[in-house]
Amino acid sequence: MKDRYGRTIDYMRVSITDRCDLRCRYCMPEGCEKVSMSQILTYEEIVRICKVASELGISRIKITGGEPFVRLGCTDLIRSIKAVEGIEEVTVTTNGQTLERYIDELKDIGIDGINISLDTLDPERYTYITGGGEIEKTMKSIESAVRSGIRTKINCLLQKGFNEDELFSFAELAFRLGIDVRFIEMMPVGAADAGTGISNTVVLRKLMEKWPDLEPDRNVHGNGPAVYYKRPGKEGGIGLISAIHGKFCEYCNRVRLTSQGQLKPCLSFDTGTDLITALKGTDDELKEAIRKAIYEKPKAHSFTDTENNDIHAEHRLMSQIGG
Ligand code: SAM
Ligand code: SF4
Repeated sequence: MKDRYGRTIDYMRVSITDRCDLRCRYCMPEGCEKVSMSQILTYEEIVRICKVASELGISRIKITGGEPFVRLGCTDLIRSIKAVEGIEEVTVTTNGQTLERYIDELKDIGIDGINISLDTLDPERYTYITGGGEIEKTMKSIESAVRSGIRTKINCLLQKGFNEDELFSFAELAFRLGIDVRFIEMMPVGAADAGTGISNTVVLRKLMEKWPDLEPDRNVHGNGPAVYYKRPGKEGGIGLISAIHGKFCEYCNRVRLTSQGQLKPCLSFDTGTDLITALKGTDDELKEAIRKAIYEKPKAHSFTDTENNDIHAEHRLMSQIGG
């Protein structure tokens, strides 16, 4: 359906847990509080929301978290959502720590894509930034996902003084594996300080200096706002997701469902519609709550609006919202 600004909203990110087996410093710092399982939507509730949302034109679902694979039965949920009439695409975002063991099942389900988060190629840095993760596990998952033929992308957050020197290594990884690597600008949500991130304007300039043959790739690569570049004769691409330095709200196509059942029309605001109450009613009542939330989606994010004190800025952790 269209929101009040005429944007077509057909994509819903569904966070199925706020829990995670890692502690990425900008997302879920050590010691953060967890929500009790009784406050989390059940799989039946999530599938029901997807069904009703599909009747309003949501056709693409991203399963996210926290870490989706720490919740028992995650693949069963993916299978159930794949079976919902009107849902054309189901993808998942994961840190890749345990993904390898699910690849065959995901292939069997017919998952449409897997995004794997990886901020560094250096084992020690990886353990540092993720608060204890083991890079070998994620690298094996990436190799296994690529081998399986499932569309695989790597998401990388570049940070000043931490991993900015790995920009070219990540680009080379994309060309070597023949997959997309996307550089995501740090957003000021929860524990994150956007000041630690790197502007994608700088990223693009450096990439163009290194590879002058890099050219814009206008082919559609997915659901997101990433702008893609490729090199002639190379399979893999470079995606830039520039929420801060390349505001794309005009083309935004998404809403977010938190694990606690809030439908968030925009990442930057703490506001949203509580679907818990609506879930107690009929499907028509649930549909109306979703329709209203989508229709009233804000015109633009407020990340760069530093003057306005009335803004309901999002202070929850990214792990609680789903990124
Ligand atoms: N655990 C899964 C993972 O790491 O892919 C899914 C959830 S995680 C919240 C989803 C994505 O959000 C990750 O790629 C992560 O790097 C990104 N993310 C977390 N905090 C962010 C921030 N402040 N700005 C931009 N992206 C962020
Ligand atoms: Fe966990 Fe993903 Fe957040 Fe890292 S980015 S703490 S892996 S939810």
